[in-house]
Amino acid sequence: MDLHEVRRRLEAREELLSPYAARSVTSRGRKRPEAPSPLRTEYQRDRDRILHTKAFRRLKHKTQVFIAPAQDHYVTRLTHTLEVAQVARTIARALNLNEDLAEAAALGHDIGHGPFGHAGEEALAECLPEGFRHNYQSVRVLDRLENAGRGLNLTFEVLDAVEKSSKAREDIFAEGWGVPVTLEGQVVKTADAIAYINHDILDAIRAGLITENDLPDSTKRLLGTTHARRLDTLICDIVEASWAATGAGPEPVIRFSPEIHAAANELREFMFQRVYLFDTTRQEAERGKRIVRFLFRHFLAHPEQISPDFSLPDDPVERRAADYISGMTDRYAIRLAAGLGCPDAVGWQV
Ligand code: MG
Repeated sequence: MDLHEVRRRLEAREELLSPYAARSVTSRGRKRPEAPSPLRTEYQRDRDRILHTKAFRRLKHKTQVFIAPAQDHYVTRLTHTLEVAQVARTIARALNLNEDLAEAAALGHDIGHGPFGHAGEEALAECLPEGFRHNYQSVRVLDRLENAGRGLNLTFEVLDAVEKSSKAREDIFAEGWGVPVTLEGQVVKTADAIAYINHDILDAIRAGLITENDLPDSTKRLLGTTHARRLDTLICDIVEASWAATGAGPEPVIRFSPEIHAAANELREFMFQRVYLFDTTRQEAERGKRIVRFLFRHFLAHPEQISPDFSLPDDPVERRAADYISGMTDRYAIRLAAGLGCPDAVGWQV
């Protein structure tokens, strides 16, 4: 039999998606053309490539908000990524969009995050003349660094959605890094915010920074008073407010209703004030930043110690050091820095 019949059947199913959905057969394609897979569409193939990388596995020991937590129930970059993927798939499926594309982009969206979350990102941004942004680094990991420096050769749509998944401070939908060209990319961008503002509430309560009662009144009134209720409200609202994306309307765009949008932004701002920028969170973050700066200085002085597996040989030493450090997990960076005598890392049990 011709196994390619399987892929053709999957591609035929994509014909039933919304007229606004991305279809794998009309993808803008890969930089290096490849023969099709017999069993999978192009987006399914991208999803699998991302899942099987070492960079994806390392997400399990990278910070979401709380650095190298000793307790097992805190969210890590890996569980965050899995939650984003699930929320994105639910929304994409509900709107009859391409679930495989949404899943692939969601799994890759944070793969470029360095150790210590946004603190590590800020420290690397100070170190590099060109700056450092985790969304650009995610594209760099997927497109250049993985697969022994050859990259994964992903489709344009997946890389576009990863690059534009990041959000500016002022609004969940702020266009700081551009609007994804596909609705599936827009779904991932929103699913990221839905996932993190909700799981970060649980972690902040777990850490004793806030109680359920502290949440803004609009949150309690409009989004609900439990984790499950808040998630459900936000996801159902986005599906309803974005219904045009199914083909039912002329202006397909992924959005919340105005009331829920305002409540979600208020909740996000509350999280910035009470959790992300809170003193103890900042103190821990500053410690992480000092470790990143220490490692950066160390590798500039000892470029021969930069692993060739996580950097490109022809790049300037600053870039190679940043690529290597940003690939590290929290605990790897702490242990390495402690071994080199960094006072901020010595004695940090991980
Ligand atoms: Mg994320």
